[in-house]
Amino acid sequence: MADQIRYDDQVIVITGAGNGLGKQYAKFFASRGAKVVVNDLGGNAFGKDKDGKGESKVADQVVKEITNAGGVAVPNYDAVQNGDKIIKTAIDSFGRIDVLINNAGILRDVTLRNMTDADWDIIMDVHVHGAMKTARAAWPFFKKQKHGKVINTSSSSGLFGNFGQANYAAAKMAQVGFTETLAKEGAKYNIHCNVLAPGAASRLTQTVWAPEMMEVMKPDWVVPLVGVLVHSSCNESGSIFEAAAGHFSKIRWERSKGFLARPDDSLTADLILRNHDKIVDFSEAEHPNGTADMITLLEKAMALP
Ligand code: NAD
Repeated sequence: MADQIRYDDQVIVITGAGNGLGKQYAKFFASRGAKVVVNDLGGNAFGKDKDGKGESKVADQVVKEITNAGGVAVPNYDAVQNGDKIIKTAIDSFGRIDVLINNAGILRDVTLRNMTDADWDIIMDVHVHGAMKTARAAWPFFKKQKHGKVINTSSSSGLFGNFGQANYAAAKMAQVGFTETLAKEGAKYNIHCNVLAPGAASRLTQTVWAPEMMEVMKPDWVVPLVGVLVHSSCNESGSIFEAAAGHFSKIRWERSKGFLARPDDSLTADLILRNHDKIVDFSEAEHPNGTADMITLLEKAMALP
């Protein structure tokens, strides 16, 4: 197809690419000319009789599928917590890195009351520490070549909260602050960083969703948006996107116009109670995207008569 979106000579690292969404990303980018690093430690699905530890070289299977189809890919079996080793595989194999898709993920669902430190720590380690380790290792290459794309994977659980997922939700919301900051730090080097909250049938969701839902939620329907976000023609950065079953949307922050009070002794709990309706009224809302917005509001409050 003449107008096919392509990634020739681009080197794309995808973490957790042995299954689910990551596997579909890997196959897509390789089919469109990219050289792909397929990272996966091959963890089994954590559950009643499984411990979530590495058990197979699923990365090899994905690499085999790609090379059999005429594409270029290499496997990497490191945990994302050793993200520098994953980026090293890209540099050693292909001499560069253009795109990093932080996709690896696990669940340890449990209500807060029953959550152990281990349930919390492993989720933070894989999602938060892992995303930082890969991004930090890729950053100098992106900076030097004045080009780089990062996708960090969040979840509707992170954006909105979800029963039994306090650990996962916290780690997934962390992706938002992390990515928004990377987007700001990367702006002058043409490094674009976005957040994706996907929905797709995978072993991660098979215990949560009904079979009919699994049917329409193919990971393939998430891939096209990621394909566009990391393409060199796309300048989007610092944004949050949702993609699932053919629905694509962007999410942003909203701040109510609010209530401004002078920062002096007149600012009491009674004053706030009287003006609570104004604080929660979104009829004249704004869409802030930086800490400077808040400073402007503080200056206005200080200038009140
Ligand atoms: P999946 O379980 O099918 O695939 C995740 C892969 O990550 C697995 O192959 C696993 O071995 C690998 N992995 C786990 N820990 C790793 C580590 N420490 N280092 C390297 N690899 C590791 O899951 P999926 O549904 O494809 O999820 C992909 C991403 O999307 C995850 O970050 C997940 O939290 C997120 N997500 C998925 C959904 C969904 O509906 N499937 C919804 C919201 C968010």
